[in-house]
Amino acid sequence: MVDVTFYGAVSRIGGNKTLIEDSDTKIFLDFGINYSKEDLFFEFPLLRPSCKEDLFKLNLLPIIPGLYQNQGYYPIYKDDGTFSVAGESEQKQINAIFLSHAHMDHYGYFGLLRHDIPLYMSDITKKLIELREDVGSKNWNSNLENSDIKEIEKNKNLQINDFNINRYDVDHSILGASGYIIHINNITIAYTGDFRFHGYRKDLTEDFLSNLKNQHIDILITEGTRVTDKMEQDESTISSKSLETEQDVYEKCHEIVSNEDKLIIYDASYADLDRVRTLWKIAKKTGRKLVLDSKKAFILLYLNVENQLVKDIPQLGDFLIYLNRHKFNKRGKIYNGLTNGHDVYVESFEYYRQNHEAQLTVKQQINSKLKKKSKTLEEYQKQFNNPYLFEIDESNFIWGPHGREKILRNPNEYIVYTPNGMQTMLQIKPANQPINGTYIYGKAEPFKEEMILSFKRLQNWLRACNFKLEYAHTSGHVNRKRMGEFLEEVRPSKLFPIHTEQPKVFFEVGYKKTQEIILPEYGKKYSFKSN
Ligand SMILES: [Zn+2]
Repeated sequence: MVDVTFYGAVSRIGGNKTLIEDSDTKIFLDFGINYSKEDLFFEFPLLRPSCKEDLFKLNLLPIIPGLYQNQGYYPIYKDDGTFSVAGESEQKQINAIFLSHAHMDHYGYFGLLRHDIPLYMSDITKKLIELREDVGSKNWNSNLENSDIKEIEKNKNLQINDFNINRYDVDHSILGASGYIIHINNITIAYTGDFRFHGYRKDLTEDFLSNLKNQHIDILITEGTRVTDKMEQDESTISSKSLETEQDVYEKCHEIVSNEDKLIIYDASYADLDRVRTLWKIAKKTGRKLVLDSKKAFILLYLNVENQLVKDIPQLGDFLIYLNRHKFNKRGKIYNGLTNGHDVYVESFEYYRQNHEAQLTVKQQINSKLKKKSKTLEEYQKQFNNPYLFEIDESNFIWGPHGREKILRNPNEYIVYTPNGMQTMLQIKPANQPINGTYIYGKAEPFKEEMILSFKRLQNWLRACNFKLEYAHTSGHVNRKRMGEFLEEVRPSKLFPIHTEQPKVFFEVGYKKTQEIILPEYGKKYSFKSN
C-alpha cells in the first residue's frame, strides 16, 4: 500500500508539501511556504507568524510527528519569570525530503525541519540556496545553516528502503529545477515540480517527458499554474501581455532597447539567471553596459567558483554592480568628524555594508580609510565563511550620487536590471527633473490585490520619472495547451493536479488522457494498492 497526502498547493499556487509513504518509509516532495493562504491571516510587516506553533494554529503547517526541529520540548514558566525546558525529542519519522527547485513556495519551510532529515536536490539548486543564505535575511523559518542538504545527481537512482527515487532536470524560471519519478514496489509515481517547454532549457523538460513516456505512470502529480479557465482571462489584463517563449522576450527587449536613446530599466525577479542571460546578450548587441543589483551580481560571481555548474552566464567585467543607497551611520564619531557636526544624509560605499554587499566590497573593506584596524582577505574569508571570497575593483561598481550621475549623463549607455524598479527610480531620479527612457516590466503578472495596488503605484512612478512602460516576460510554467499535449503523451492512470487555483479545469484539459483525475483535498490520505 502506498499513501499520498497533500499538505499544500491544494487549489492554490505554491506551498507544495506532498507526503508519500508506505509501511516503513516516508518522504516529502517539497516543503514550501503557501503565501496566498498565509495572506488570508497575516499581513507583512505588522502581523506576522513568529514560530511554527503560530502556523499550526491556523492549519498553515501540518502537525506531523518526527518532522520538525525541537518538537517535543516545551518551556515551563514560574511566577517569578524564570523558566525551564522539559520534554524529550521526538523520534525522527520522515526519511527524506526531495526538492523540485529553489523557489520559496517550494522550500521556504526547510528551516523548520529536523537537521537529521536529508534534503535532496540538484547541485545547482543546492548552490542557489546556499548563495541565497548569503544575500537574504535569516528569519526564524529560513535558517538552513545546520541542515543536511544533499545533492542527487540527475538520472541516478536513490534507494530508500522500498522507494527508488530518480531525479530529472526540467526547465523553469529558476536554474536547477527537477522532476522526480519514484518506484515503490510496482507503483510508479511522477512529480513534475514547476516546469515548462518554452525556456532556453526546454530540451531538459523534453528529456524528462521521454522518461515519463517510456514507462507506465500510475500516479502523476503535476503543477497547473496556467491551466485556467479561458473565459476568465481578460484580454486587458497583464497576463495577456506575457510572451510565449524566452526567445520572444529576447526579441522584444532587443527591439525596445534598439529604439530607445535614453535609459532602459528592466525589472524582474533576481532569481532567474536565464533572464539575466537574455538581457546580457542584448546589452552586448546594443553596445550598452548591463548594471545588475548586488544580489544578482553576488549570485553570478559565486555560482561557479567551486564547480562549473552553469555555462554561458556573465562574469565579472560583463556587468557593473549597482550598490543600493546605504546610509552612513550618524551615531559614530567618524560621521561627526567628516561632516563637521552638520546633520546631512550621507551615503557609504564600504563602511557599514552588511552580508553579501560587505563581501562584494571586501577590497574596499580591506583598504578602508575609515576603519581603524583593517583585516586581511584571509580574515574576511573566515568571517564570511567564504573561502572563495575575492577582491573587486572600484571600477566595477555604481554607487552613490556620482555613480548615478554617470548613468544620467549617458543614459543610452546603460541597461539597469533591478528586482525593484520603484526603489531604483527613487534612487536615480534627481529633484526637479525626470529620468526619461523606457521601463520594461519583466515580472509575473500581478494576480493578487496587493500586487495590483503595487502596480498602480508603479504607474505613478513611471509618470514622475517619464518612463514609457513596456512588457517583456514569459512564464515559468507550461501553458494550458501544452499541458493537454503533455498529459496525452504521459497517459498516467491517475492524475493529481496541484499548484493551481483551478484544478477543475483539468477535467477538460485531461479529458480521456487518464483513467481518473483526483482533485486533492488538504490533509486527506489517498491510498493505492500494489498489484
Ligand atoms: Zn517555481
